[in-house]
Amino acid sequence: MTDRIAVIPGDGVGQEVVPAAVDVLEAVGNLEFVEVDAGDAVRERTGTALPAETRTAVLGADATLLGAVGETAADVVIPLRNAIDSFVNVRPARAVAGTDVLCPDLDLVILRENTEGVYAGHETRLSDDLSTLTRVSSTSAATRLAEFACEYARTHDVETLHVVHKANVMRETDGRFRDAVLAVAKENDVPTEEVLMDAFATHVCLTPETFELAVMPNLAGDVLSDLAAGLVGGLGVLPSANLGPGGGLFEPVHGSAPDIAGKGVANPAATILSAAMLLENLGYAEAATDVRVAVTGVLASGPHTPDMGGSASTRAVTDAILQEL
Ligand code: ATP
Repeated sequence: MTDRIAVIPGDGVGQEVVPAAVDVLEAVGNLEFVEVDAGDAVRERTGTALPAETRTAVLGADATLLGAVGETAADVVIPLRNAIDSFVNVRPARAVAGTDVLCPDLDLVILRENTEGVYAGHETRLSDDLSTLTRVSSTSAATRLAEFACEYARTHDVETLHVVHKANVMRETDGRFRDAVLAVAKENDVPTEEVLMDAFATHVCLTPETFELAVMPNLAGDVLSDLAAGLVGGLGVLPSANLGPGGGLFEPVHGSAPDIAGKGVANPAATILSAAMLLENLGYAEAATDVRVAVTGVLASGPHTPDMGGSASTRAVTDAILQEL
């Protein structure tokens, strides 16, 4: 049976990098694509950033490939993650051999809690002077994430699972997160080390080789994976997968990049590597490896887009990746 992929290019560079990734998917797999809209542009046209048709397409698909959403990201990405009950955002940050990056030794997978924390949407304007935010932290969400992390550690021969938090300050919420993750790891005999999230930011730069797999709350995962992106070549190369019982939503870590949108120079690697994660998740391990090898080959040898010091276009880099394939 052919797998059906919902495709949402979205805003800004999403319109450039998603067609590139679809070309790659078409080259390696027998997939059916359903293109739908979401984001700022569709809100301007229709008044809603996430049309019902898009939600239905995502729910009916075997997997979704999303480009980027601008100002309306919270109105699109969070509801879509919730729709598939995505409890984990997998963000691998791997330096590609032969590329000139800050941390050539970094090969880290960040597992970000995907449903709660400060992104749960509980903000209140109490007065002209004062706003508050309620942070959500449940044992059930941390446990589900930790079970995924332990399974990942087992299947990927990870020596140590780093548990990143700030429980020395946020004793109740991060304390709950830490306790739940450590309890699951202990049950599963997975060795762990705790790191405070601010210390993690320093250590990942100074001793990148000590980190393989790190599990952390939502905001920390968002921020620290952007840091990791900077260490391995920038946002143009970092893919991600939102996984849950309702399916997978695959998207680059980067946003809509309005500063370069429309110029045809966005790096397609992050989205194409997200497509490789999609293939792997659907069971096409060999095709996923082929895509990764092709992308890393081109990242090492060029052509390169301007974010990686080159002058090639999105199209030229995509064509080189297709050629490698
Ligand atoms: P968001 O809040 O959605 O993450 P943002 O505007 O803060 O959005 P990005 O859109 O990810 O962040 O852009 C941050 C920087 O990274 C910009 O300078 C942008 O040009 C650059 N960037 C993002 N994606 C790419 C890409 N695919 N190729 C090259 N540069 C990129």
